[in-house]
Amino acid sequence: MQEILRFMKIPGNSLYFLWHITALLYCFFISLPDTLGQDERPGGSSLIYINTSFPNASPLYWEDLGKDTFLLNLVYEHERNSPNRANGHWFFRVEAQPNAKLCLILNNFDNFWNGRRSFPISPRTPTYLSEDGLHWEAVPAELTADNQLRFSLSFKDHPIYVASVEPYRISQLEKLLQDIAGHPLVRIDTIGATVEGRPLEIVTLGEPSAPRSVFIRARAHGFEAGGNWVVEGLIRAFLRPEAAPFLEKYRLYILPMANKDAVARGRTRFNSAGVDLNRGWGAPADPAVAPENAALETWLAQRIRAGKQPDLAIDLHNDRGGKLHLSHPGEDHPDYLPEMKRLEEMLRKHTWFTEGTQGGSGFHNPGTFGEGLLLRYGIHALVYELNKERIAKFDRPPYGADWELLGQQLLTVFYHYFE
Ligand SMILES: [Zn+2]
Repeated sequence: MQEILRFMKIPGNSLYFLWHITALLYCFFISLPDTLGQDERPGGSSLIYINTSFPNASPLYWEDLGKDTFLLNLVYEHERNSPNRANGHWFFRVEAQPNAKLCLILNNFDNFWNGRRSFPISPRTPTYLSEDGLHWEAVPAELTADNQLRFSLSFKDHPIYVASVEPYRISQLEKLLQDIAGHPLVRIDTIGATVEGRPLEIVTLGEPSAPRSVFIRARAHGFEAGGNWVVEGLIRAFLRPEAAPFLEKYRLYILPMANKDAVARGRTRFNSAGVDLNRGWGAPADPAVAPENAALETWLAQRIRAGKQPDLAIDLHNDRGGKLHLSHPGEDHPDYLPEMKRLEEMLRKHTWFTEGTQGGSGFHNPGTFGEGLLLRYGIHALVYELNKERIAKFDRPPYGADWELLGQQLLTVFYHYFE
């Protein structure tokens, strides 16, 4: 109950929210039938269909447990040459009879990470609901003793979309790119293609004469939509007249959706050849199985040859911590950690960031984008994990608009970072 009360801080239509709270309590207290997965449906079911056929929807299969309770089994994906398996993304649309109440149980959160069991959910994990797929409301879910997530849906006369974070789809990126194409401060280059042939764009923004530059990669992991919202806010704000002072100081290079195949197919972490695009950065990428990283490396090498390598590089992710993941490279890069400390101070001053940095001086993240770019190219790079469960400063679950705001605020952070 404490969790539910803490959720009361979420913004939006409170009547709609109370409607879901009532339904959630109903779901908590409903008694499950003795026989799970049985074929007969005593009393019939109010569920019509669970639709996972649209872009970014997550693969799943479901079982009718009776009493309008359904077990939704998310489908694991597997990492190449590794025992690791993952899921943590859910996005589907539920159609039911008008005024129905359904209890849904999400299953299969037994991930393996670095060969060990891990869980992408916690007692604080929300789920997001929407009637139109555009306006979302975070509602609490119950973490069960079996590491399942249980919540309920209360229908009026519309289907309900359910998602793990506020979705950002390829179509939204395409709309953004369409809107900014042709702007005098914008250049869009296709640097390669994903395993499945989807184009990989790098957006260059600003004046070529600007002395400094920042590179940002988003969505290396398909289920981590937060980075795309940040990039959306950042790009649109950078092209407003108020951004004029920033243009004199720095340019932006942005790879907005590094793992498009996973986004399209509603998967969690790996690319379509089972590669984690935030690993393996200690050595050149194999273009046969990680063409996304190989294309980025080729582009980076061109920048470096032209004497225009980025001064700062940020890889945007989502996790349940919300921290900056820094490297600890030792004497080879003595100015890296002091610079990162300054960056953290600027983030605290000019954005809603308060979460801090991950680990102590011994913390290592071998093979990640942050460590790889620093050790191989000397670029001051880091991974920023946006908390997908809760923004500490606001003490509530995050929305796309919060991450867009962070993107706008980053412009001021970079301005002062380069002072
Ligand atoms: Zn990630």
